[in-house]
Amino acid sequence: ESEWMAFDDAEYSDEPDGAGAPQPVLAVVGRPNVGKSTLVNRLLGRREAVVQDTPGVTRDRVAYDALWSGRRFTVVDTGGWEPDAKGMQASITAQAERAMSAADVVLLVVDVQVGATEAEEAVAKVLRRSKRPVLLAANKVDDQRTLAEAAALWSLGLGEPQPVSATHGRGSGDLLDKVLEAFPTTPREEFAATGGPRRVALLGKPNVGKSSLLNRLVGEQRAVVDEAAGTTVDPVDSLVELDGEVWRFVDTAGLRKRVKTAQGTEYYASLRTKAAIEAAEVAIVLVDASEPLSEQDLRVISMVIEAGRALVIAYNKWDLVDDERRQKLNKEIDRQLVRARWAERVNISAETGRAVAKLAPSLRAALDSWDQRVSTGKINSWISDVVAAHPPPVRGGKQPKIMFATQAHPRPPTLVLFTTGFLEAGYRRFLERKFRETFGFVGSPVRISVRVRE
Ligand code: GDP
Ligand code: GDP
Repeated sequence: ESEWMAFDDAEYSDEPDGAGAPQPVLAVVGRPNVGKSTLVNRLLGRREAVVQDTPGVTRDRVAYDALWSGRRFTVVDTGGWEPDAKGMQASITAQAERAMSAADVVLLVVDVQVGATEAEEAVAKVLRRSKRPVLLAANKVDDQRTLAEAAALWSLGLGEPQPVSATHGRGSGDLLDKVLEAFPTTPREEFAATGGPRRVALLGKPNVGKSSLLNRLVGEQRAVVDEAAGTTVDPVDSLVELDGEVWRFVDTAGLRKRVKTAQGTEYYASLRTKAAIEAAEVAIVLVDASEPLSEQDLRVISMVIEAGRALVIAYNKWDLVDDERRQKLNKEIDRQLVRARWAERVNISAETGRAVAKLAPSLRAALDSWDQRVSTGKINSWISDVVAAHPPPVRGGKQPKIMFATQAHPRPPTLVLFTTGFLEAGYRRFLERKFRETFGFVGSPVRISVRVRE
């Protein structure tokens, strides 16, 4: 049976500031009936998103997307402790430890009307060892009288109890503020809020046709947007209008010089390539379609993928390609470009202008994928299906379980899986394939990172 529950994603009307920042995780733990689900729904601000308990399915762990003060995060409801007497202690400890390993912040919910029971004492003991911040919610503080009882929870040694009433909503905003404060401060995603034209790197080995292509792209415009025109434009870049949109081709100074200086050593060329990739959001890698794919072509493509940039592969000099060559090329691509199967391919000729107009739509598609964010609800319902049909291979006699998953951030899209064991590379690749089958992500690398509990 699947241990996943899927939820509808929240519809966000506005894009919050931290859109590109990694999405931290809050885990909510506590005994059954203390009000975890009610509180989670309150925190999510969606009263309708009531936990869809399916009879017979263990409600083990569920994850939701949340948004507060412009920051996105994931809330994981770790499920109730099974109240069977013999396993209680172990179950409590296990839940707390899972939460500590998987989350950035742990929230222990206690029912003030019951007070701290042995169970809470036990879990507090575990949580006090936590390297992650722990917050204590004193729930069911519906009135002044119970407020005093919240203070009694200081005894758990987890700091100040935060009084909340999940059913009335009281205190939940303050609690969320505390949660955000406790999250690790992460650097802003470098491309999140820059705005302006999207940045493109034009890459490829010497003589593949980079200058010819740039000249054609620039030459086709009625009014060339000159690099000197814009004050905000770094002079080493070129602004190029394609398909009604201005793009910033980065680091093109070397390409635009009429008389090109010698390309220099390969080492130097590779440094240039690296710098251009770093500065770009998407790369067009030019490959000479009239020649066999070379080591150098593959290296540039790998550099783009490893840097996590979106990618379009342009097979240039298509005017020189005959039927025989085309068939050979298709075989080469099949065999050698396995890693970049998701990249869109455009067959162009910088010389004749063939299909050059197709570059812009491909760039756009690649960037759309690169920017794309799939909600935690959708990801968990997807992974629930995939894992049910193809569980991770057993290792060392143990079956690793995927507890939940979330897309930590876009640019590049990065999926984080929280597991109970190591997932083999082959299985990760399988998951990536399945992920793409469902969600697309044409033109963008997708990263899968695994956080193993323990
Ligand atoms: P969970 O098992 O920890 O997820 O707890 P639930 O969210 O299912 O809540 C258990 C019960 O406590 C439900 O009947 C809720 O209506 C009730 N409850 C939750 N929060 C509050 C609260 O703030 N005040 C009061 N009075 N009852 C609450
Ligand atoms: P770069 O070193 O990558 O900038 O390559 P260039 O733009 O200088 O091109 C190298 C050579 O390939 C030049 O002689 C170009 O005329 C030629 N070339 C570029 N694109 C094409 C093309 O699409 N078809 C053909 N037949 N030749 C091309």
